Amino acid sequence: MAKISENVICVTCPKGCTLIVTRDGQTVIDVENGCKRGKDYAQQELTDPRRMVASSVRLKGGLHPLLPVYTSAPFPKPRIPELLSVLRQVEVKTPVSLDQVILENVLDTGINIQSSREMKEVVE
Ligand code: SF4
Repeated sequence: MAKISENVICVTCPKGCTLIVTRDGQTVIDVENGCKRGKDYAQQELTDPRRMVASSVRLKGGLHPLLPVYTSAPFPKPRIPELLSVLRQVEVKTPVSLDQVILENVLDTGINIQSSREMKEVVE
């Protein structure tokens, strides 16, 4: 297979290096402009791209109608639309604590959905 060089922006840390990645198919041969973590990122980006996902679910009995949530680990990028579809069907009741697991092992990925903030019950 022919070698290809392309620019990939590493999002592993706030530096955001532009990596020059030379690859042969899905195998990274060389990475310029980055550290070891950048090389690992480039390899993963080619074979199993993942992203942290922040979203919200419906909340019942709180001050706000929505509860912000996040994935406990980077989530497989191609399955993010499927994840958002699941989250649209979730409704949580107060009280909710910070980092509380809202969904465990979502879509059999081994990744949890957790609360980004505490939400107290509002008594009317
Ligand atoms: S290559 Fe290294 S220094 Fe650059 S953004 Fe990635 S992790 Fe940070």
